[in-house]
Amino acid sequence: MTCAYVGLGSNVGDREKYIENAIEKLRDADGVDVTRVSSFYETDPVGVEDQADFLNAVVEVDTALTPQEFLSVTKMIETELERTRERHWGPRTIDLDILLYDDLTITEPHLNVPHPEVKNRAFVLVPLAEIAPRKQLPSGERVADLLQELGETRGVNIYVRSADKSNETGKAEPNE
Ligand code: AMP
Repeated sequence: MTCAYVGLGSNVGDREKYIENAIEKLRDADGVDVTRVSSFYETDPVGVEDQADFLNAVVEVDTALTPQEFLSVTKMIETELERTRERHWGPRTIDLDILLYDDLTITEPHLNVPHPEVKNRAFVLVPLAEIAPRKQLPSGERVADLLQELGETRGVNIYVRSADKSNETGKAEPNE
């Protein structure tokens, strides 16, 4: 089994539902176990800024699939959740990015792992560091150290999910 990390993002419609549904579909996928789920974060758009705020989360999976097979699963989930996207870095119902796959470095036309944005994006590093601070990239760099180096986490704020609002704890579900 291989440990992999997937980043999820949504900024159209019921963002929380899209992310929850995507995680549910990962749980249902053959050969994939979801082992950890980060809190959800509300994040300022990066790149194209005149669009709605995103919700982002990161999940850890154990999988028996090859990276290419796993990419097919994530693309299928995007399609099933009716991903719509008109422009690069523009609004999307759901986006799944393979952040890390075991300790592999993959440079193929349709698959780059580690995902090129892992090191630069607070909206990826903050949830990733929440569930896997000691995880190392193939380069040997630790997630927590990368986050510290990035320094700037303004615009990445913990999001209180509907289920948590209703029981008024104001806290995300603990992991494990
Ligand atoms: P985007 O919608 O900008 O995330 O780009 C989607 C395309 O990026 C997909 O069709 C993938 O083939 C390609 N891609 C390359 N590397 C990755 C990765 N690590 N995770 C997900 N998609 C990737």
